[in-house]
Amino acid sequence: MAADMDTEGAAARRELAVRAAVEQGLLDAEPLVCLLDTAGIRASAAALTAAFAAELPSGTPVLHAFAVKAAPLVPVLRLLAGAGLGCEVAGPGELALARAAGVGADRTVLDSPAKTPAELREALALGIAVNADNRQELERLDALVSAGPTASPIGVRINPQTGAGTIDALSTATTTSKFGIALRDAGARAWLVRAYLDRPWLTRLHIHSGSQGVPLALIAEGVRELHALAEEINAAAGRRQVDTLDIGGGLPVNFASDEHTPSYADHVRALREAVPALFDGSYGLVTEFGRSLLAKHGLVVARVEYTKTTGSRPIALTHAGVQVATRTVYAPAAWPLRILPYDAKGAPKGGEPVAQDIAGPACFAGDLLATARELPLLAPGDLIGVPDTGAYFFTAHYGYNSLPRPAVHGFAVAPGGGVRFALARPAQDLSAIVAEAGGGFRDALL
Ligand SMILES: *Cc1c(COP(=O)(O)O)cnc(C)c1O
Repeated sequence: MAADMDTEGAAARRELAVRAAVEQGLLDAEPLVCLLDTAGIRASAAALTAAFAAELPSGTPVLHAFAVKAAPLVPVLRLLAGAGLGCEVAGPGELALARAAGVGADRTVLDSPAKTPAELREALALGIAVNADNRQELERLDALVSAGPTASPIGVRINPQTGAGTIDALSTATTTSKFGIALRDAGARAWLVRAYLDRPWLTRLHIHSGSQGVPLALIAEGVRELHALAEEINAAAGRRQVDTLDIGGGLPVNFASDEHTPSYADHVRALREAVPALFDGSYGLVTEFGRSLLAKHGLVVARVEYTKTTGSRPIALTHAGVQVATRTVYAPAAWPLRILPYDAKGAPKGGEPVAQDIAGPACFAGDLLATARELPLLAPGDLIGVPDTGAYFFTAHYGYNSLPRPAVHGFAVAPGGGVRFALARPAQDLSAIVAEAGGGFRDALL
């Protein structure tokens, strides 16, 4: 598979950033910080844009909408907007973040399986693209659309029922998935075509059938179903009623090494093989990538507080655990993470590999980032780096044990090797934790 990213450059930037984080005191006040490589994020956004642009006739409308849930941080959305990307949002919180980042309504797409009437009304008033999830939502939209004009392009999400990947919880295209209208259920296809003919304002079709653990060919098979349905609707309508296909996101990420595989170019190639007509310029395209844009550009850096040996197993007790790597802790087989060892100064740590457990700070036995991992024996004061955590890890904080949300710093490396950090999210302080825990309502239950 082709790599369209400079992996050596990214690894070199990471090593400089860890050392600079120590030298510049980022780890003095807090034992845990999260870093984002802004050059890497820009490079991924550029790779995505280039991969599709290379295959589409010029002038084909394309919106790459970043799936906000992967990294719901306003400065990240702003950075991506500067690189030409929009936002895919799944509710009022994410919409508020996109708006705070200055992302326009015409660059925003609202998907979610449980939109309230108020959310739909707001989206249509703003002119945000909306993808309906189900028949009842379409009926709500009927009422709203007939009540007044809207600039919102509106589509329907389908479930191609093409099958699961290797992670059940992330497989959106199973026979019984909760998302979208199931295309292969009895009568569903005819119902959908009729629904479009009855609603001339339905101009889009939406699918999101990929995710971690889903092979590219299976994602492409879903997109082929989407395209075929659009052609069928347009033939029945006798006009190009469906003018835009939203093909979702779901490009898997390699958590085993620094290589960006599969690449966006690989993904586009798989799509081209399965659905050549997708690239003939007859449809505008929307994509909704999340994990593949951010994952490899995030790094958790945590101090080793103590070490011990229990039942002859060395254990490093660190400050990175379930609060920043929830999926890895609860489903370690599906979400293995690399652990990079550093000494107290932030230099890569060498030494004979010893099987160790890397534990987090939370008070339950399963709070482990790695079990029996072969690493140079860690000592108190050393650091661990946890790469590939830029999406759905520290940006999806889990508030167990009232552990604070750690600070997120973007970093950029100057040509001479100097590292400049920019705070993108401050660490949550104790007063914020108390306030979120009802601190202002102390006597409410008396
Ligand atoms: C989560 C989600 C995405 C992004 O998926 P990734 O695997 O992060 O690329 C895109 N579209 C929808 C509808 C989603 O729910």
